[in-house]
Amino acid sequence: MEELVYVSPGKLEWRETPAPRIESGSAALVRPLAVATCDLDVDVIRGRVPYLEGPYPFGHEGVAEVVEIGDDVTTVQPGDVVVVPFQICCGDCKACRAGHTGNCTSVPRGSSYGLGALGGSWGGFLSDVVSVPYADAMLVRLPDGIDPVGVASASDNLPDAWRTVGPPLAEQPGADVLVVGGGAPSIGLYAVALARALGAGSVDYADRSPERAVLAESLGARIVERDGARRIGRYAITVDASSHPEGLAATLRSTAADGICTSVGIYYTETTPVPLLEMYTKGITFKTGRTHARPAIPEVLALVADGRLEPGRVTSRTAAWADAVDALADPPTKLVLTRP
Ligand SMILES: [Zn+2]
Ligand SMILES: [Zn+2]
Repeated sequence: MEELVYVSPGKLEWRETPAPRIESGSAALVRPLAVATCDLDVDVIRGRVPYLEGPYPFGHEGVAEVVEIGDDVTTVQPGDVVVVPFQICCGDCKACRAGHTGNCTSVPRGSSYGLGALGGSWGGFLSDVVSVPYADAMLVRLPDGIDPVGVASASDNLPDAWRTVGPPLAEQPGADVLVVGGGAPSIGLYAVALARALGAGSVDYADRSPERAVLAESLGARIVERDGARRIGRYAITVDASSHPEGLAATLRSTAADGICTSVGIYYTETTPVPLLEMYTKGITFKTGRTHARPAIPEVLALVADGRLEPGRVTSRTAAWADAVDALADPPTKLVLTRP
């Protein structure tokens, strides 16, 4: 079969590789139909991610069709269209049962599709066939009537955005939300759309990019200015998607007393300054870390199914599968590659 391999910044190529086969009763084989770039993928292609080196099979966000199932699989069958979480999870270990599927202990730590040495050799989604070792635990059937293209990021970036506002708004219904966008561009925009869908009070958005600000405004945000690391306002729920130390500090300072701040940004330096004294005196809860994608996928799909969330509005461009190499050479914020 063919798989798309990331070679080096700006360079990807199709390579021939043996197709995976069913290796256990719990496994399934799927054929990706719509594959999106994750915010991290775009940084990798642009040479901004020092710890991810090619070559490795590319792509870890997508919707696929089930083509074959193992003897013990009961929740999906061939022909079903499913979201495939980017993280490998068994569904049965202590971590998985606690919802911490990104730290499943049945597989090596960090096991993910399409993330090179970081994720292990599970293959990438830009390939003809992908093996899913724990089909019942991992795959989520797409509700009828949902276009796979619009939810191609339901494997990773959409759940990542959901965790920043979903649980906090369940705890504080109608609370005001601030999203500081930037380095994780689509996650920040999804967070705006999700905060709106989940009934936040006001949703304010700060970003240096005028294009993203216009898009955030169209998703229901009010645009606010960020002046370096200074406080923007006071919000019960804040989201740092800036991946910038000043953006992080501004987000933390803008978190109201007893508020919660979630950072989805990745900071490559060994330490990053935070205004800890201010956080201490106000009693701020700060969350960071990789998302646990699998439990959030049904939450996201339910919002799409009832028309409250339209993630496709964040998609910058769609391109045909056959044009993947060219389309990915200079990727926009959110590219979705599709095939019939
Ligand atoms: Zn990702
Ligand atoms: Zn597990």
